[in-house]
Amino acid sequence: MKITASCNTSIIQLLHELGLCPEAVIVTIDGELAPETATAKKGQEIRIIHYKHVPPLLSAQEPQGPWKKAKYEKKCAECELPPSVYLPHPKLHLCEKHFSLRFEKQIKHSIRDYNMIESGQKIGLGVSGGKDSFALLHALSRIRNSLPFELIAITIDEGIPGYRDEALERAEKTCKKLGIPQHKYSFKKEYGITISQIAKKGVTNLCSYCGVLRRKLLNKKARELKLDKVAIGHNLDDVAQTAMLNLIRNEPMRFARFNEPLVESSEFVKRIRPLLAIREKEVASYAYLHGYRFNSGCCCPHSSNAMRWGVRHQINFLEDRYPGTKQKMSASFSTLQKIVREKVAKENLEIKECRECGEPSSTDLCMACRMLNDL
Ligand SMILES: [Zn+2]
Ligand SMILES: [Zn+2]
Repeated sequence: MKITASCNTSIIQLLHELGLCPEAVIVTIDGELAPETATAKKGQEIRIIHYKHVPPLLSAQEPQGPWKKAKYEKKCAECELPPSVYLPHPKLHLCEKHFSLRFEKQIKHSIRDYNMIESGQKIGLGVSGGKDSFALLHALSRIRNSLPFELIAITIDEGIPGYRDEALERAEKTCKKLGIPQHKYSFKKEYGITISQIAKKGVTNLCSYCGVLRRKLLNKKARELKLDKVAIGHNLDDVAQTAMLNLIRNEPMRFARFNEPLVESSEFVKRIRPLLAIREKEVASYAYLHGYRFNSGCCCPHSSNAMRWGVRHQINFLEDRYPGTKQKMSASFSTLQKIVREKVAKENLEIKECRECGEPSSTDLCMACRMLNDL
């Protein structure tokens, strides 16, 4: 959405008048990323970018909670430059450079705290062409300066014409620019069917199909490429949403194995989530600052996970009013998860070999094969 300011316009006031949650958008003034606390001068162009397609959340109203008192600082908290980003939780205004440094430092901390990457390891990164993997690719390629490891991009083409073409092209360009080798695979070649073809068969839970088939392919290829770990671009919002969804749907087993398989197996390449402590909004801002541009095709046309959207709205609403909510949710869930895992570990779980494809599975027939047989 593009608006030319007809008078001096407070961004936060504008967002609230439009019924938009600051958590769900990034704002630019004359093309520069701007904190929501900024004011656009008369004649300047304001762009409001939804980094995921979501309908408005709040009804038109006065700014609430922390935004009521949020003031625009003319200087970055670390230097003399004007700020590009405002972080309501630690209440920080930061310029482009200091925001990026903070972002990369947070990733380094997560890598260290969860022992995600060790020096010399071979790390794969699922690169989809979306903002999360774009941001992670950039950040990891920078972090390699202080923690040397090998980085390889893995791109999977699910076969969604229109949506995927542009994303795949973008993924390829970024990998080339950063000098990171890229391996490409497709559903068509590996499974003999694309997501669009599966959609035509009237499948309703298409996102589950896509997820299961992607995960299986990513794991298989990571093993073949002899990778130590596979990094995925899940951020703090994804973690909070997934945990909440598992609770709502009463899926304690899924909850228990989120982020870490219940049984260690050399057949499963360990997955790491270096962005797990960072809000989606910050990931979107970092991606934008490093050249990522959002377009109308940024969402999968088949995406219809209504409950996830609902949960996403509610969590964003809470974060908007009570900054730090997502972080606290994630911390509570990880405490609860430990307790559930200890209980589950007492039961006998073993990894079998799928009787059709030979891939590791907890049942005789893996989920991917079961889904493909059902078509
Ligand atoms: Zn600065
Ligand atoms: Zn199978």
